[in-house]
Amino acid sequence: MKPGQRIALIAHDQMKDEMAAFAQAHAAELSRYGIVATGTTGGRILDVCPDLDLKPMKSGPLGGDQQIGALIATGEVGLLIFFVDPLTAMPHDVDVKALTRLAIVYDIPMALNAATAKTLLSSIRDNAAASGG
Ligand code: PGA
Repeated sequence: MKPGQRIALIAHDQMKDEMAAFAQAHAAELSRYGIVATGTTGGRILDVCPDLDLKPMKSGPLGGDQQIGALIATGEVGLLIFFVDPLTAMPHDVDVKALTRLAIVYDIPMALNAATAKTLLSSIRDNAAASGG
């Protein structure tokens, strides 16, 4: 993460409980950063972590994922956490592919599940500590 970059959080409907629990468990860590989230996911996170600096985008199916894609392209998002539902096909499944592609193009860390997200958060914390942040 470069200074000023935000963390993006997105969760498919069946994964929103898990995302809310993840945000709550890592609220102290997340509060060190600005957050962007798709609309419904962001609302669920703010219900449990009202003090986070979280900027909600549109709902995913209405373009929120693509707003986050644009922020990856402009360098404003430096870490993407997308809890993907592996069991339900959705009309906006293509968004996962589009965001994965941008994460590769702009070489930012991307987590698709809680275990990876946890690992990435500890890694950015360690990097910040090592650089005095
Ligand atoms: P939502 O969008 O947070 O607005 O539900 C997430 C998604 O892309 O499914």
